[in-house]
Amino acid sequence: MPSVPELQMLPLLDDTPLALPRDPSLVVVSISGGKDSTAALIAALETFGPGAVVAHHQIILEDWLQTPDYCQMVCDYLGVPLYLSQGVYNGFLCLKCGHRHLSMFYEEAYCHKCGSYDKQLLGVIDSIHDLIRWREKWVDARVRACTGHFKIEVFNTWARNNVSLLGRRPVMVLGERHLESRGRMKLPDLRYRDLRKGWMLEWRPILHYRRIDAFRASRQWGIEPHPCYKLQWRGILRRQHLRWLQEGIPPRASYPGQWEGLDQVEELSIQVLDAMIDTQMYEVDCEGGPRCSCRDCFFKEEEEMRATYDTDQGKALIDDGIAIERETGFTMKYGQSLESVVGDKESNL
Ligand SMILES: [Zn+2]
Repeated sequence: MPSVPELQMLPLLDDTPLALPRDPSLVVVSISGGKDSTAALIAALETFGPGAVVAHHQIILEDWLQTPDYCQMVCDYLGVPLYLSQGVYNGFLCLKCGHRHLSMFYEEAYCHKCGSYDKQLLGVIDSIHDLIRWREKWVDARVRACTGHFKIEVFNTWARNNVSLLGRRPVMVLGERHLESRGRMKLPDLRYRDLRKGWMLEWRPILHYRRIDAFRASRQWGIEPHPCYKLQWRGILRRQHLRWLQEGIPPRASYPGQWEGLDQVEELSIQVLDAMIDTQMYEVDCEGGPRCSCRDCFFKEEEEMRATYDTDQGKALIDDGIAIERETGFTMKYGQSLESVVGDKESNL
């Protein structure tokens, strides 16, 4: 007769240290197209092998236009299935109390203030600029409505709709790093995602990476970083060079000898710029620099915003941002309009 197994008390969740499962039902890496999430994808592949890993990208219309194609290219190259989804919200006016509310749904959507289902559709919001127009306010660091509505909620909705694909013990992989920002310094490497309780484990495998480690991970696997890095870095370096020639302000060197003799050169060639950028990406251990995010991300410094404005797709988006500032009377940064940052281009150089 088989022995009856001894009954054990279930451990309290808080007391159980989380561990990365050896055989998760599926590993899904959230990729943005940037170097960090690419490094996280690589780390997931190195840990679990190609068969267990898929990727998910949340399409954002303010991203660099090549981003979805870039994600597809990287995933094809690595043999990883890629899922894409985009946040699309219905904007409603509550016919009972006049409150305006957003929902991914239609019939099920109700007013968050009074609970009424009685509503009128005012419009469809599928971009961050749409959302800013809807809110009549810019998003900011405290109200990260951009990330909330167009990344977190989009991923969560995709996950809820794909429970059978994800299975019982899925792991979500994120490419955040401690050195990126104060807010990320305390992120744990493992925690449960705020979804169904105890279901999806979040794993951040590259928390301890430096910027250089993330770029090197791509290089090691033969992956060229997203073109937005070079595009932005070229613009920033060109501007620093021009300022040097025209105003006599020498550019800050990221490594010894970076600018040696270049005050004698009228215009920096692509070859000279790209050699500098390669050194910065793969050899110089420092944080900051261009990011793969919205073209007009409010985290960008003035000089980065101007360099973005020098590109066609950057100008198109920032011009729309300037239009929003005029429509709403709100400025993107506190007390500083986008127009004043990128406008009057001659005097900025
Ligand atoms: Zn209402």
